[in-house]
Amino acid sequence: MTYRELYDRGVRTLEEAGLEEAKLDARLLLEFICSTDRTVLLAHPEHPVTEKEQEDYEEALERRAGHIPLQYIIGSTEFMGLPFQVNPNVLIPRQDTETLVEEAMRDLCDGERLLDVGCGSGCILLSLLHYSNDCTGVAVDISEGALECARENADLLARTYEQDKTLPERVTFLKSDLLSHVEGSFDKILSNPPYIASDVVKTLMPEVKDHEPMSALDGGKEGLDLYERLIPEAFEHLIPGGSLLVEIGYDQGKAVEELFTKAGFVRVEVIKDLSGNDRVVRGSRSLL
Ligand code: GLN
Repeated sequence: MTYRELYDRGVRTLEEAGLEEAKLDARLLLEFICSTDRTVLLAHPEHPVTEKEQEDYEEALERRAGHIPLQYIIGSTEFMGLPFQVNPNVLIPRQDTETLVEEAMRDLCDGERLLDVGCGSGCILLSLLHYSNDCTGVAVDISEGALECARENADLLARTYEQDKTLPERVTFLKSDLLSHVEGSFDKILSNPPYIASDVVKTLMPEVKDHEPMSALDGGKEGLDLYERLIPEAFEHLIPGGSLLVEIGYDQGKAVEELFTKAGFVRVEVIKDLSGNDRVVRGSRSLL
């Protein structure tokens, strides 16, 4: 078999499974299994594959046809232009969440102390540490599996980028249900909590509802349960002038803004993502 033949077989299998991005997924899986890239596949379609590669590719196709997300099969994804390992213990980082990181970066100063609540893969805190100088952070999650993944991602960045060599020493990983075990105060607190309403979770695509961690998605009846606890708890752990930034669902801007105001936050703002949907709410603890 050649690259071309194997790829064609992949596209057929994934199309038959009803996957929307059959061609793209077939190619990315082939690149992954054969440790190659698009340019080589295009330039050498007649290149023979080994029996092992064929077997591994077919196994990967079968998993993808069963709606396992591509990123879990490959084991990694990209967020803010950086590599992150992922597995079913963590939500796959979304482009939506880059809005939260970019908003936090707008007024991030050197040496700030950051807290990421419900860190999952660690993508929010770790990318902020990568793109700033001398900041330190605490990453908390209720899931041991998620903390393990976030720790591996700190090590991966340290191995990949010279500037991130000391990054793992600047992060503390802590098992905690929201802020229950967190001590001290922070300049910024960030969170992408589960915020999808329970009824809506059931309607999501199988990749999400059957394979991503439900504990990272389901935000209770209206999707607001976690914010109701998180926002007042976070207020208590901010320095005067410090800010809380949370990701929200497109229809939660008003409700979450009210929770910020009720908890005592000032300068509360709802920020839109690139598609024009409400995506982030931020607010500050006043200086006085
Ligand atoms: N944005 C995610 C999704 O739509 C949800 C993430 C979350 O609940 N925090 O799948």
